[in-house]
Amino acid sequence: MTGAASTLGDMSLHAPPTDEQATRELLVELLRDFHRRGWVSGTGGGICGPADDGGLLLAPSGVHKERVRTDEFFTVDPADGRVVRRPDRDDLRPSECNSIFCLAHRSRGAWSVVHSHALSAVLAGDLAAAAATDHLAIRDLEMLKGIPGVTNVDVHLVPVIRNTPREPELVSQLEDVFADPRFEAARAVVVRDHGAYIWGDDVLAAKRHTEVYHFLFEATVARRDRQKEERA
Ligand SMILES: [Zn+2]
Repeated sequence: MTGAASTLGDMSLHAPPTDEQATRELLVELLRDFHRRGWVSGTGGGICGPADDGGLLLAPSGVHKERVRTDEFFTVDPADGRVVRRPDRDDLRPSECNSIFCLAHRSRGAWSVVHSHALSAVLAGDLAAAAATDHLAIRDLEMLKGIPGVTNVDVHLVPVIRNTPREPELVSQLEDVFADPRFEAARAVVVRDHGAYIWGDDVLAAKRHTEVYHFLFEATVARRDRQKEERA
């Protein structure tokens, strides 16, 4: 293999997709992968990514996420969540996460947000509830380096908010979290009894942060359980 070919190969592996069809294909691939991992099961969870015209591509609501097709995404204006393009199928509705994804874009510059219903995120929220705090403190893990600007000797604070009957009602708590300087480094918000929102500058960054945070949640919960057993 020549040097040039090897460089191109690296680019195809690591560079974010540059056109909308590639983004749609990547989002569909990630939904299948996240479903296998139990992060978007039972039609819960969701994802968004950048459209070519400055909009956000949004998966439909209430459908089996591992079966979403590339032509089933909505395009919304991140300024206000207005649907600017919809799929041909009349029975599809835009994700309940619309207003939250748009807020993460406006507040954090996120072009991709993953909404997870993972058990590890719920259990991580339980730790904050048990300690009567509004955050999860994560420390002493090499994987912390997967979050931009965070090192493995930092104590990384992830905000934990209360669940609400409908997802759009989470917006006001998220606005408070995004304005809180304690959580500047966080790329995730845990919603108690529900899951988490995790974002990145592009789809592959959101994918990386999603994998990193799920590991951090699982490790923190498992360590806390072990400490409890040792004390008992
Ligand atoms: Zn949800």
